Amino acid sequence: MSDGADRRCYACDRSDEGPRARCECGDPLWFPVREPDEWPGASAEGGPSTPPGAGIRRYGSLLPVDPAPADLGAGGTPLIRAGRLDEVAGCRVWLKDEGQNPTGSFKDRGSAVGVAAVVGESGHERVGTVSHGNMALSTAAHAAAAGVECVVLVPADVPAARLSAIARFDPTIVRVRGDYGRLYRDALALGPERGIRFVNSDVPLRVAGQKTLAYELLDAAPDLDAIVLPVSSGGNASAVWKGLREGRAAGLVDELPRLYLVQAAACDPIASAFRRDEGAVTPTTPGETVAYSIANPDPPSGTRALAAVRDTGGAVVSVGDEGIRAARDRLARRAGVRAEAAAATPLVALDRLTDAGEIADDEAVACVVTGRGYGGTDGSEPDTPVVDRDGLAAALDA
Ligand SMILES: *Cc1c(COP(=O)(O)O)cnc(C)c1O
Ligand SMILES: [Zn+2]
Repeated sequence: MSDGADRRCYACDRSDEGPRARCECGDPLWFPVREPDEWPGASAEGGPSTPPGAGIRRYGSLLPVDPAPADLGAGGTPLIRAGRLDEVAGCRVWLKDEGQNPTGSFKDRGSAVGVAAVVGESGHERVGTVSHGNMALSTAAHAAAAGVECVVLVPADVPAARLSAIARFDPTIVRVRGDYGRLYRDALALGPERGIRFVNSDVPLRVAGQKTLAYELLDAAPDLDAIVLPVSSGGNASAVWKGLREGRAAGLVDELPRLYLVQAAACDPIASAFRRDEGAVTPTTPGETVAYSIANPDPPSGTRALAAVRDTGGAVVSVGDEGIRAARDRLARRAGVRAEAAAATPLVALDRLTDAGEIADDEAVACVVTGRGYGGTDGSEPDTPVVDRDGLAAALDA
């Protein structure tokens, strides 16, 4: 299936028919913001009816391609009321647990749509991506299911646990040394000549799949005051913004929830631009952080993410590694949710935002837990006692 659909620049509104990802002006393209007459799942009388599919397929009428040929069951993740986090956070907390997607991150929403577009498309025998791990894992799994060849480009220093998880799906893996931001652009430039459709983090197809995250939030909780989301390339923030605007156009809400984005302090080009009140994001030098999945020093949709924040009245904040580790533990111990470090950053940001009075204590806030992680990859051995059987009773009384 091919998607001949029109693409539009979010910034200058120029339209573009190609499979290109970026406008002549340099900003990213997306499919035009839709104004649906009828919201999927709503009956003619406006009441709820049985949705036509589970997960992202429920919203098939609002997607540029039918994800069915590649779908592993992306989307439809739970929105969990995490009341035991309220006291520390200082507001009413919900968790959108994207770790429950088929390969453990929200990337599956975009991969299902992106890979489905390549199935049977002439001129693209292969699908590709540039990733820190989750998107490579997700793209490779969806390509395997759809029977499409897959090429993934990862940084040379990608952690071993991630590499072996990706290799299970048997894509061609290329580890590339050097500037990760440049690699994103190199891939988009090299792909067409080689018959590889790169569905990188912020390309129109991926953004189209990922906007379903916002649809689900609006459907489950139309009176949310704010959404807090980790940001790296800015692709997912763009997708959530688009989905919220489409939900508003369909009459689901009058006012958009405020969008708060979170970066790791060691690599925070979008937060820096926000603090300096600048209109565009400039690249920084990469720094080490435990939040590996969001360490992009040159975010291709950084400026679009800034626009999303300003449009909704939110903010971009950066948080340190110590807070991130503590938040990851708090998510597990007070909400039963397993998250990788990057996905725990919203909780740290929330402490900051409620302290500053940006978010009030009676407000309803959804933290997007973007990925579940690979388990035990931080190298620490939990401190647990080992006892003999005859020491069991004593151990249970301790
Ligand atoms: C990819 C990823 C992000 C960042 O998403 P962008 O679309 O690149 O901004 C955040 N968290 C996790 C777990 C990810 O895998
Ligand atoms: Zn443009």
